[in-house]
Amino acid sequence: MPKHVSRRDFLKTSAAFAASVSVGIRNPVSAAVGNTAQQKRWFKGNLHMHNQWSDGHPLPEWAVDWYKSHGYHFICPSDHNIFQSDELRFDGFGFKNKPSDIAAFKGETSLWKPISPTAGWPKLTRKHVDEAIEKFGDDSVRMITVDEETYVRMKPFAELEKQFVEPSRFLMIPGYEQTGGCPNGQQVHVNFINVREVFPYISAKEPKDILERTFEKGREMYRPDYLFTANHPLWRYYDFSPNDLIALPQIRLFELNNNAIDGKYEAHPQGWKPGQFWDVVNAYRASHDQPLLLGMGSDDRHSYAGPAEGWSVVRAVSLCVEDLLHAIRAGDFYASNGLDFEDIQFDGKTLSVKIDVREEGKYRIQFLGTKKDYDPTSRVIEVAEGPRCPARKIDVYSDSIGRILDTVEGTQGSYTLKPDDLYVRAKIVKVSDKLQDDWQSKPAAWSQPYK
Ligand SMILES: [Zn+2]
Ligand SMILES: [Zn+2]
Repeated sequence: MPKHVSRRDFLKTSAAFAASVSVGIRNPVSAAVGNTAQQKRWFKGNLHMHNQWSDGHPLPEWAVDWYKSHGYHFICPSDHNIFQSDELRFDGFGFKNKPSDIAAFKGETSLWKPISPTAGWPKLTRKHVDEAIEKFGDDSVRMITVDEETYVRMKPFAELEKQFVEPSRFLMIPGYEQTGGCPNGQQVHVNFINVREVFPYISAKEPKDILERTFEKGREMYRPDYLFTANHPLWRYYDFSPNDLIALPQIRLFELNNNAIDGKYEAHPQGWKPGQFWDVVNAYRASHDQPLLLGMGSDDRHSYAGPAEGWSVVRAVSLCVEDLLHAIRAGDFYASNGLDFEDIQFDGKTLSVKIDVREEGKYRIQFLGTKKDYDPTSRVIEVAEGPRCPARKIDVYSDSIGRILDTVEGTQGSYTLKPDDLYVRAKIVKVSDKLQDDWQSKPAAWSQPYK
């Protein structure tokens, strides 16, 4: 095994574990789980990020290199409404840059963007180009100047793959983010992971209809091996609701923590937060015998100036697309913004977790869930437009949803489902005076829910 693979940080062997784990009573994990010969390991990844293929700041190779050199094992460069193909083009999400002399690009491929003298969304500036040249050399960035306008070539996915992918060390999964919204501006974004073809955004008056039709279109187009994730429901401000995912049990993945929204949007005092969103949907699903909603962590980075504070860690047999997607669908992963689980086990009744402690400190495990007698009703409050938020109707739910079932002060703990529990999930935190709640807890990690 190469040195980087055995590094303790994110790859931990769990052979004994693989023999015993099952994720969800109704959803026993694959044959692989029962096979003691197949050891599973943890792989750190991010399936939601942006670069200059749409409106992320760095050039694509700079962005991919950032993840590879920061301990990630897999990524999906999920740019807005575009796949990084080699088709010659000059337009994309938020830009149309047709050069005055197209003949200068005869025989060229891929997306070309002009260097803008001024910064601003979603422009390419000299600084981004210089950063890539500094890292990869003059020859790595191709430029063509037409009428004093310098165009820069974006590397397509296949070339990035060739440059960065290494077996057992770093994997790139193709995909993109479907970006758009309702006529009133409410945003509904979803990611398609492990696809290479884009279809035009499907708008509708209601977020639920967008989610439903987009999911359906994906099913027609991308069968069979891809993922669909409902992204950042809180962004821009309560843009879609738990009720939308209650109505659409076919949606199995959503973004629980998304780096890009943190700090920019405050939850309404009466409104749900992403953790509560999750519990509202799963209280309903668990009591209606439906598969539970799974929570992803991702950073959705555009600027790479600050640290990445959202990712997912997946327990899979190997670092290949098939195994990773299989593990994610089976719920064998957790979302994190700084902590790691060493182990998560569910035997059909008891959820046992162990924190991977890398720093001295006080750690806490919270077991969260909802009781069978919860109040499923919701009411709507209308929020007027404010300096930090557009006008919105927000669904408000009962406090009986998403309760702390038990707390363990320590690094190891378990919770056995009681007859009146619908499901249980674990959240781990490092305790400090600055610790916030819900998705803003840092550092923290979230297991999937089990029933
Ligand atoms: Zn988005
Ligand atoms: Zn995004």
